[in-house]
Amino acid sequence: MQPEMIPVPAATRQPARWQTLWREAVRDPAELLRRLGLEGLSARVSASAQGAFPLRVPAGYLARMRHGDPHDPLLRQVLPLDLEDRLVPGFTLDAVGDAQAKAGTGVIHKYEGRALLIATGSCAIHCRYCFRRHFPYAEETAAAGGWASALEHLRADPSVREVILSGGDPLSLSTAKLAELTDALRGLPQITRLRIHTRLPIVLPERIDAEFLDWIGALPWPVVMVVHANHAREINEGVRTACAALRERDVHLLNQAVLLRGVNDDVDALVDLSEALFGIGVLPYYLHQLDRVQGAAHFEVPESEGAALHRALHARLPGYLLPRRVREDAGQPGKTLL
Ligand SMILES: *Cc1c(COP(=O)(O)O)cnc(C)c1O
Ligand code: SF4
Repeated sequence: MQPEMIPVPAATRQPARWQTLWREAVRDPAELLRRLGLEGLSARVSASAQGAFPLRVPAGYLARMRHGDPHDPLLRQVLPLDLEDRLVPGFTLDAVGDAQAKAGTGVIHKYEGRALLIATGSCAIHCRYCFRRHFPYAEETAAAGGWASALEHLRADPSVREVILSGGDPLSLSTAKLAELTDALRGLPQITRLRIHTRLPIVLPERIDAEFLDWIGALPWPVVMVVHANHAREINEGVRTACAALRERDVHLLNQAVLLRGVNDDVDALVDLSEALFGIGVLPYYLHQLDRVQGAAHFEVPESEGAALHRALHARLPGYLLPRRVREDAGQPGKTLL
């Protein structure tokens, strides 16, 4: 055989640029604070919170934080603070009842017609308020074993018409791995929509590369992508470029945000977020009241305050830029509209 005919094993292939950026994320709180000129905050970092759910921030997201600002709304979303060590009554390990709703490996089937796949446990960024920070991912991912168990669940239940890829962040998987799933889904005629819940177009927009765009543009179903930005300053030129490329492939872009103390808990911040999203072709979908997960109590905005903020937002924005304020209640047939 000619040497040039020997196929290159996948393992020795060059990683995609986004994968290199993903791996090079900042993981050391001291380094993060040094880069921001905030060494003084290091006394507030919790070693136990860092141990349980370590810091992870892509350099491109770090670059959007304000140097020297301890109250930066992007920094607050990622820095493991001593406040996380407080045990607050009502804030639990499985705040949304995922453990009960498991329908198979990596499948959470709670709502009519929609099955959510925990595609992977990995994320490019670790958000301190995340409701899945305690979820036992290691044994739970749908992508393990070639998606076999998830596909088995979908085959056995033709009422599922929409497959939702979630996680973790499903776009942490390689495009080849995603294609493995969608190739198999083509054989299931019941599927009419694919939805992807991902924060990567916001925190690491390089993920939306040519290979990914080729894949998503060739899917046989309408595709909805729900991105996750909480603050207008998360949206930069790279995010705009990624969203424009997705829209060119007819991907419907929506945003879900979480109402977070110290991040977006004022009406100007929420107006700016909706306007910035519209500017890149993304419509606001949900504004979540915080899931009451252990370690996240300092992010909570009480529901009465959330309601007042939402009313003020309604008075300032056209209806199509007003996100629905929701809460997730275990055992309910859908998100609770507030
Ligand atoms: C939030 C969620 C969905 C999607 O709900 P929509 O209201 O359709 O956005 C689906 N399945 C699970 C398990 C969910 O938590
Ligand atoms: S699942 Fe989403 S919110 Fe949670 S840590 Fe990952 S990117 Fe952040």
